[in-house]
Parts: sequence; C-alpha cells; structure tokens
Amino acid sequence: MHQSEAAPRDTARLTFVGHATTLVEMSGTRILTDPVFRHRFRMLKRRSAMPVGSLDLHGLDAVVLSHMHFDHVGVANEVEGATLIIQKPEYDAAFAESVVTPGFEPALYSKLKDAKRVMIEGDRDVFGDGRVRIISAPGHTPGHQVLYVDLENTGPIVLSGDLYHFAVSREKRRVPSFNVDADQSLKSMKRVESLLEETGAELWIEHELAWFEQLKKSPSYYD
Ligand SMILES: [Zn+2]
Repeated sequence: MHQSEAAPRDTARLTFVGHATTLVEMSGTRILTDPVFRHRFRMLKRRSAMPVGSLDLHGLDAVVLSHMHFDHVGVANEVEGATLIIQKPEYDAAFAESVVTPGFEPALYSKLKDAKRVMIEGDRDVFGDGRVRIISAPGHTPGHQVLYVDLENTGPIVLSGDLYHFAVSREKRRVPSFNVDADQSLKSMKRVESLLEETGAELWIEHELAWFEQLKKSPSYYD
C-alpha cells in the first residue's frame, strides 16, 4: 500500500457504518472492513442493528475482512477494484476445492478469488507507521484477523472481528463450538489482550448491541 506523498502524516479517521463495517481513511487511502449491508441472520444472531449509513463502494483502495464468515463478508462481491488484504490460511480455506469451514459461503465472495490482493501471514503494519495494523488472530476461522487503528484524538482502538462475539464472551473467554480451533482461539485472545494492555487500546466488540448503541455512527466519525 503506497502512502500519499502530499499528506504523509494525515490524521487517520474511522467512520463506523454498522456491525463490523467501518471505513478507515488515512493519507488519501480508504480501507473498508467487513462490508455488511444486509440482514442475514442464521449461524449467530447479531444483536447490533444493521448499517446506519450508506457508503459508496467505488473508489475504495482496500478491503480488510476480519474473516470470511457470511455475516462478515457481506457484499464483498460488489466491492470492485479494491485490494483484498487477507491471511493466507483464510484465503486457502475460502477458495479450497471443497470448502469445509463452517459459515463460509463461497458464492458470497466468489469475485474475491481473482481480486487484487495482498496475501499476508501474520501481522501487517499497513502504512508502515504503526497506526493501522492488521493483527493475526486465528482460531475462529483459519485466518481470522483484527484491526488496530491508532487515532490521534480518540486513541487506539481494536476492531475485534469475531474474536469475541459479546462482552460476556470476553469476560469468560468463551470459544464458540463452530470455531475451527479452540486452542488457537484462546491463544489469539491472549495475544490481543496483551496488545490492548500494551497500547491502552479500546476493544470494539461488534456483535454487542450495547456497544453499537453508544458508538458515533456515519456520517460522524472518530479521528
Ligand atoms: Zn464469525
């Protein structure tokens, strides 16, 4: 990902669009997370309401999906031209000849197979200045990841994906039965908790309605 020469130290801005859907903007680069724009309840009921604002899906630079579950992939097929940043184990599981991961629905993300992509294994500092970092947190799915964003006024936050579904899952370190690897899930929780402790970042638990309700929503934003 290149950095705009005109404004290399722009303030990062994060707009919450709903559920796990956010737009992260920095230095003229627009990154969309988990583009969920429609109701699709099944595997796990979402407590938070659906998107609160609309979002132009054109002209995005990158899409970062926490994982490929149908309720996080959303309308990824409609996001054209953006670079997919994905963990290799997630990509391999999602596009395997026979897809066996629970909650993966290949038809929903079929167009991502040949999308421009940055395949990563482990953590990635997106702009090279530590402010937007993808943190590998496997276990829920083979290549689940969370996103750390350090905002100048708000401070650092971590978008948890499905590391925890609810506040109580964090309290009790609950591992859902459909996670692909319970042991790995617990290790990922530990790792992210250490990051939170080190950085003082706030954890956004996106299936949690109470959390959803108190957030500033699009078109307001965090910076
Ligand atoms: Zn999930």
